[in-house]
Amino acid sequence: MPGATPRSTDRPFGLPQLGSKRARPDGGFLWETIVNGPVRSRRLGVSLGLNVLPLQSKLCTFDCPYCECGRNTPKAPDARWPSPDEIGHRLRQALARLSSAPDWITFAGNGEPTMHPRFATVVDRVLDARDACAPAARVGILTNGLAGAKPAVGAALARLDARMVKLDPGPVAAVNGVTYDRGGIVAACRTLAPVIVQAMVARGPDWDGASEGAVAEWLPHVVASRPVGVHLYSLDRAPADPRVRKVPRERLDEMATAIRAALPSCDVQVFD
Ligand code: SF4
Repeated sequence: MPGATPRSTDRPFGLPQLGSKRARPDGGFLWETIVNGPVRSRRLGVSLGLNVLPLQSKLCTFDCPYCECGRNTPKAPDARWPSPDEIGHRLRQALARLSSAPDWITFAGNGEPTMHPRFATVVDRVLDARDACAPAARVGILTNGLAGAKPAVGAALARLDARMVKLDPGPVAAVNGVTYDRGGIVAACRTLAPVIVQAMVARGPDWDGASEGAVAEWLPHVVASRPVGVHLYSLDRAPADPRVRKVPRERLDEMATAIRAALPSCDVQVFD
């Protein structure tokens, strides 16, 4: 999930750039390929992205107004979910083209990766490819966590090296574009431990994820999630809704201080 792709994006020196993306007429961009990058991510170092969503479609169980891929779309006509074998094959091809292995192989792309109907088998193929072609690389996922309670999805997620689960401050219907129970995400985080909470802090036309009230409502959920790390960040790329605005670094630092006070052993990092 962008807000999902590893954030930020200097090209790592000396490595070819794989994959392609195209701008959407209504804002945002879509990856046109399964394997993308590598990018030098703010959070992960050198990361190769995996887009397992149907091409030309943005599919997610959230619909965040800050999403860099734009708003959700229907599945494009003729688009299909890439098969687990195809994903594994494309990843092996990509790793063979790189002169050095990425630090991370990261499920991200045009929406929520766990929506893939054969997600568990996709994880099998990706881990097989990693083991064969880049055994030192770690495999992680950026996910909204909504599917984490499903046993098959949870078991697949547990096999990855890192699970970065979205838990954003602010009113969920506004910040994530859908109504859901934050308690379910908290429960998924505890089931999937260890997890890193990833929090986009942004402001919209009639909501503010950085306000005192929003942080006071959100922080207990972060604590209850028992994360080993929290990644705080604000906009890095154009949002789906141009009215969404970036929050200054100073406010992110204040929020980080509050989290560290509540979770002293948690690794809290701010990215801007
Ligand atoms: S969770 Fe939000 S940011 Fe991530 S892909 Fe879905 S809509 Fe985009």
